[in-house]
Amino acid sequence: MLAPAKPDDESTRLHTARSPDVADTVADERFDSLTRLARRHFSVAVALIMRVDAEQQWFASRDGIPFAQTPRDLSFFEQATDSDDVLVVPDILADNSFHGHPHVIHTPCIRLYAGCPLRASNGETLGVFCLLDTTPRALDDEERESLRDFARLAAAALVERDDVAARLKEDEDALRESEKRMALAIAGSGTGIWDRNILTNEIHYSSGWKAILGYADWELTNQINDSYKRVHPDDLAYVQATIQAHFDQKTPSYEVEHRIRCKDGSYKWISSRGKVVSRDSEGRPLRMIGTTTDITAMRAMSERLQETVDLITSLTNEVPGLVFQYRLLPNGESFFSYASAGIEGIYEITPEQVAMSAAVINEIVHPDDLAAYRASLEVSAATLTPWHLEYRVELPRQGLRWRQGDAQPRRLEDGSTLWHGFITDVTERKRIEAELKEFATIDFMTQLPNRRYFMVQIEAELARIRRAKEEGFAAVLMCDLDHFKSINDTWGHAVGDRALRHFATILRAQLGEKDIAGRVGGEEFAVVLPDADIAEARAFAERVQQRIVEAPLVQGDRRIALTVSIGIAVMNAADACTDAPLSRSDAALYRAKECGRNRIECH
Ligand code: GH3
Ligand code: MG
Ligand code: MG
Repeated sequence: MLAPAKPDDESTRLHTARSPDVADTVADERFDSLTRLARRHFSVAVALIMRVDAEQQWFASRDGIPFAQTPRDLSFFEQATDSDDVLVVPDILADNSFHGHPHVIHTPCIRLYAGCPLRASNGETLGVFCLLDTTPRALDDEERESLRDFARLAAAALVERDDVAARLKEDEDALRESEKRMALAIAGSGTGIWDRNILTNEIHYSSGWKAILGYADWELTNQINDSYKRVHPDDLAYVQATIQAHFDQKTPSYEVEHRIRCKDGSYKWISSRGKVVSRDSEGRPLRMIGTTTDITAMRAMSERLQETVDLITSLTNEVPGLVFQYRLLPNGESFFSYASAGIEGIYEITPEQVAMSAAVINEIVHPDDLAAYRASLEVSAATLTPWHLEYRVELPRQGLRWRQGDAQPRRLEDGSTLWHGFITDVTERKRIEAELKEFATIDFMTQLPNRRYFMVQIEAELARIRRAKEEGFAAVLMCDLDHFKSINDTWGHAVGDRALRHFATILRAQLGEKDIAGRVGGEEFAVVLPDADIAEARAFAERVQQRIVEAPLVQGDRRIALTVSIGIAVMNAADACTDAPLSRSDAALYRAKECGRNRIECH
C-alpha cells in the first residue's frame, strides 16, 4: 500500500487538522439518506461520500463528521481507488502507512477505514464511499458486499447529479452569453436602462443611461426626486401625470417623450418607456423597469421635416385652385394622398373627405363629363402621359362650374400610379370663350348663325350627304324679304331691324332639330332641311309665309307690309361643293322675284 502524499511542513499539517472546516462546503443533502443509512447499517462512527479535485477532498455527504472538506493530501483517495475492490484497514494504528495521519492521531481519531471506489459506467473514478470508526474492527464478506451496494447507489446518484449540473451549467453559459449580447445591443443602440423601487423612491441607472446624459458610471444619486429635477420644467407635470396614470393602472405601459438636462446643462430629447413589473396585493406599484433612448437627433430631423412640410402646405394653400397628389392602386381604388386647402373652392369638400377614397369625386363631376373624366385618367395611367382635361362640376353652392386639371403621372413599384398636379377654376375663361365663339358664329341682330357659320354647317351637311351616296339629300331654301329697301325708307332703319328680327323669330320657330338656318346677307336668309325633298321644303316655305301673315309686324296701330320670296333647290351627293345647290336655290329665288314676289319657286 502506498503512503498518502503528506503536507510539506508540520505546522500546516497540524493547522489543517485542527481547523478542518475552514472552507465549509455545503454537503449535498440528496446523498444524506445514503450515508445515514450506511452509518446505521455498519454501526460505524462516520459514513462519507468523498470526492477529490487537484487541491482538496470534500464530502458530498457526511454523517458523523463535523467538517466538509480537507486538503487533498489528507485524503485516503489514492489508496482507496488503487484497486477496484473494497479497501479495508481494520486498524490504522497497526498499519504503517497511516499511523501518522492527523485524522488518526487527532479528532476524529480514526482506527477503522473502509472505502469502496465510486465508478461511472466509463470507468472514471467519481469518489469513494467511506466508513470510518474510532475502534478497530474487520468487515466480513456480507458487509463488504453491502458496502459495494452503497457505493453503486452513490455512484449512480452522482452520475445523475453531475449530468444535471453539467446541463444546468450549459444553460447558464448560454443565458449569460445572450445576456451579454443583449447588453451590448442595448449599449450600442444608445439606450439606457433604469430600475425604480417605488417604495424606497430609489432608481438605478445603467451606465448606458448615465452616458446619454454625459455622466460617468459613478456619478448621479439614485434618488427619484433628483431625477425629476433633471426633467425640463415645462415637461415635468406631463411626465409625472403619465407615470401616475400607469401606477394607477390606467395605461398598460408608461411612454413619454420629454426633455432632460445633461451634465453640461444642455437639454436632450429622450423617449422613456417603462412598465410596473410588480405590485402588492392591492395593486400598488412596487417596482418599475424601463428604457431611455436619446431621440434628440431624430426630433431635430423631424422638426426640419415638419418645417418643409409646413412650407409646402402653406405654398400650395396659397395657390388658387387645388394642388394634389392622387394615387390609383392596382385594384382600382384611388385616393388623394395630398390635397391642398383649395379643394374647398374646387369641389366644396375637405382634404379629409378624399384622403381614404376619391369616390366622392364621381358625385361631383357633371354626369355628361364623368365618362371623359374617367377615360382621361385611364389613358394617362396606361401611357404615363400628362393628364389634361376640361370638365364641368355640379356643386351645391357654386352650381355648374368648369374645371381644368393637369397632372404628371408616375408609376410606383407596387403598380400604383401617382399623379402630381393641380385643378383650377376655368369657368370664367370658358364663358369668355363661349362668348367669343358666339361673336364669331352668331349674327348679333337676329341671333341666327352668321353667313360664315352657316357655310361651315352646310359644308358639313354636304359631307354627310356625300357619305350617304344615293340615299343622302337635303333641301336648300333661299329667302329674301321683299322690297325691304322701301320698309327702311318708309318706317326708318330701326323698324327695318325689327322686321329682320321678326322674320328671324318666325323662321326659327319652324326649324326642326337638325335643320340649319343662317342670315347670309342683309335681308337674306338661307335654310337647309336635311332629308327633305322639294315637296317637304315647299310645305316648310308655305308655313313660313303663312306665319308672317298670321303674325304681322305692327308699328303703333299700323301694320307693316312684310313678305318673303323663297327659292328651293335640292342638294345631293352629286354636288361637288355647296356653291352649286346654293346657286340653284338662288336662281329659283330670282324667278320668284321675277314672277311678282311673295312666292315660292323650285329649281
Ligand atoms: P327686292 O324685293 O328686290 O329684294 O327689293 P329690296 O329692296 O329688298 O332689295 P335691295 O337689295 O335693293 O335692298 C335691300 C335693302 O336691305 C338694302 C339695305 O339698306 C337693307 N338692309 C340691308 N341690311 C339691313 C339691316 O341690317 N337693317 C336694315 N334696316 N336694313 C338693311
Ligand atoms: Mg336682297
Ligand atoms: Mg330684298
